[in-house]
Amino acid sequence: MSIQTVTGSIEPDALGRTAIHEHVRFVDEAVSQQWPDWYDVEQQFADAVEQVESVQAHDVRTIVEPTAMFGGRDVHFMRRVAEQCDVLIVPCTGIYSYDYLPHYFENRDIDVMADHFVEDIEIGVQGTEIRAAFLKCAADAAGVTENVEKIHRAIARASMQTGAPIMAHSMPAVATGPRQVEIFEQEGVDMARVQIAHCGDTDDVGYIEKLIEQGVYVGLDRYGLEMYLPIDKRNATAVELLRRGHAERLMISQDFCASIDWFPLEAAEVFEASGAIRNWSMTLVFDEVVPALREAGAMDDAVFNTIFVENPARWLTA
Ligand SMILES: [Zn+2]
Repeated sequence: MSIQTVTGSIEPDALGRTAIHEHVRFVDEAVSQQWPDWYDVEQQFADAVEQVESVQAHDVRTIVEPTAMFGGRDVHFMRRVAEQCDVLIVPCTGIYSYDYLPHYFENRDIDVMADHFVEDIEIGVQGTEIRAAFLKCAADAAGVTENVEKIHRAIARASMQTGAPIMAHSMPAVATGPRQVEIFEQEGVDMARVQIAHCGDTDDVGYIEKLIEQGVYVGLDRYGLEMYLPIDKRNATAVELLRRGHAERLMISQDFCASIDWFPLEAAEVFEASGAIRNWSMTLVFDEVVPALREAGAMDDAVFNTIFVENPARWLTA
């Protein structure tokens, strides 16, 4: 089974070392469309290229890019970065919402929403021949609201129809993961296709292990976002999960956004100074996390290969 990237389809063994959850750009879709002159696209492009090149220096060949609707998903921008850097970028389809749905989808049923995702997977995204490789949805502090459930069911049905895997943003603090898995199960999705992102925001190993026992992949994928959990606690969680033999279910990444418009530009320095983020980048995992896990005796070359090469390929081709 081949895997779709923004520069064409590839065989799974071409993926190589993979960053499983990184954004080359994340912007508010409505604001950036309506007031484009408030954005410097060439600066965004330069920032994306700089980050991608820095992670390529760690022999990363592929970036899985889970920017969906509302995150300013733009496969033209992604393709430009991929061509400039000679990197593989794996795009998605789906809706990134914690509750809000446009009237367009509010007043149409689940299957119509699913048809939109299927078109992205089978025909192409945004008028291109670039096809989405996986599906993305989200549940956050508001929990699995009625609208969030609708999106999850549409994602599940599109997955059933196409075989595309699913990545679901979750929030362990309000335990969205089990409910998200339950919805996918009700819709008949094979759990080997499901990745519950952001599980590493908790150090409750039991919570994470219960999800793993249901057969899903779990993301320890927000390294650097100290406001949710500091790096030493994230590492301790990873070490314990590896000690319990779960290497084949772990995804390790940073959820870095090469640019993001959620805050004014100067906020990055404030966050860094206050410790809310620390060394957040596309390379933190390779600079600090892998060495720490090796030092703790939790990661050897085989475990490294499982997490950064085999797991992404297995999930993408499930
Ligand atoms: Zn993300």
